[in-house]
Amino acid sequence: MNTILGAAAFLFIMILVLAFYLFNKLQIISALRKTVEHLSKTVRELDYQAKMIIQGDMELKLYQEEVEDKLNKLTLLKNLIISSLHILDKEKLFLQIDEKTINDLGFKKGLIVTTDFEEKVNVGFERNEIENIKDFILHKKLLVQSLPLISADTEGTKELFTALSTRDFLIAPVKAREKVYAIFILANMLIPIDVRRAEKEIFSIICMYLGQCLDNIQLFEELYNARDDLEKKVKERTNELVRSLREIETISRAKTDFISGVSHELRTPLTSVKGFSSLLVAEKFGKLPEEAKKRLQTINENVDKLVDMVNTLLDIARIESGKTEVKIAPADIAKSIHDVGEFLSPQMQAKGIKLIFDTPETLQVYMDKNLIERVFINLLGNAVKFTPRGGTIKISANVNNNQVIISVADTGYGIEKENLEKVFQEFFRVDNDINAEVKGTGLGLSLVKRIIEMHKEKIWAESELGKGSTFYFTLQLAKETNI
Ligand code: ADP
Repeated sequence: MNTILGAAAFLFIMILVLAFYLFNKLQIISALRKTVEHLSKTVRELDYQAKMIIQGDMELKLYQEEVEDKLNKLTLLKNLIISSLHILDKEKLFLQIDEKTINDLGFKKGLIVTTDFEEKVNVGFERNEIENIKDFILHKKLLVQSLPLISADTEGTKELFTALSTRDFLIAPVKAREKVYAIFILANMLIPIDVRRAEKEIFSIICMYLGQCLDNIQLFEELYNARDDLEKKVKERTNELVRSLREIETISRAKTDFISGVSHELRTPLTSVKGFSSLLVAEKFGKLPEEAKKRLQTINENVDKLVDMVNTLLDIARIESGKTEVKIAPADIAKSIHDVGEFLSPQMQAKGIKLIFDTPETLQVYMDKNLIERVFINLLGNAVKFTPRGGTIKISANVNNNQVIISVADTGYGIEKENLEKVFQEFFRVDNDINAEVKGTGLGLSLVKRIIEMHKEKIWAESELGKGSTFYFTLQLAKETNI
């Protein structure tokens, strides 16, 4: 009995141990199952992520390829711009579109024909293909010229891709000044894929750029032609002027010769008339009736005037023909001024005119002494003639750097502004009441001007009506010679 009980107890214990063991195992199995489930979920996620990475990588690669492609095309555009920037000739411009450019655009063949069917560029097209293209352009003129870009997707192009036996082509107009100048055709892509947006975009840009270049070239040609025209006109006008100048020179020479000849011819009889009239007035041939003497005095005065005129005319003619020799050397102008003042003092005294000198004691200038003294005689003589009684005349010499400005100022009747330059013309005398009374030939200032110009110096006048006139001329200061 005990044995049975012992066996039963043992069995019970064993069962208990087994149950415990089983329970333990079941728990381990459950934990393992959970782990397996978790692992398989992780594996699934990893698989999904790997797929995502591969897809992303592929997209990235495609994107990179696209970017590279665009970059290449931009480089092509940049190179084209740089190489054509200074081109001012249409033919040279189209030379830039060569096989490399066509290939860089992604195509094997390229053709540019003008609207008059002049072939500017042909890369790879056969003769019959070109004829087909020309036919197409002719028949679809409106379509080709009005659309900015034509591809196989454009309606009405079927006959062209049948003729070219390819669907990958692009056509665009090259416009200059809003008008179609040429048509650009690309065909057969290097890599056989459909023509993409990138190719279309870059092709459109290049066609627009070529149009812009043509605009610039046309503008340059117009400018160049305008300049050419202008140059031609300037040349023609210059020739005309030279001709006129020669004619004027010939006329002037003839005039000088004429004046010189006539003056010479007049001088001898005038001298004789003067001699006789002086003797007659001096009653060397016997007493004259009062009336006859008066008339003879007028004749004598007029002969003086004529002699003066003939002499001045001869002087002007000599200067104009270059026969007068100018001896420019350092000389004391202050002395010349005083000498001439002295010489004319009787006339001044007769009119009660006061003469003021405003000059240094000595002043060396470059001049032809005799000619400049004639200038003073004329200027001072005029000042006396055109200054009323009791007036003042002032002769000044002012040094300014190397230049000496000499002026003869009077308090006379003055000269109107519009006559200030005319007084230097031959035979010009102001048409006024004073000149009706004052004697003159209108040649004095003309001679003065020529003498100053022979010195390569300037002369001018300033005046105010009723207040007086000032005549200025310049000479060059001479360095001290007597040190
Ligand atoms: P002329 O004195 O013999 O008439 P000029 O050639 O010396 O000839 O002068 C031309 C004209 O200029 C004069 O007739 C006169 O009208 C004007 N003129 C010259 N000098 C003066 C002056 N100092 N004041 C006013 N008028 C002058």
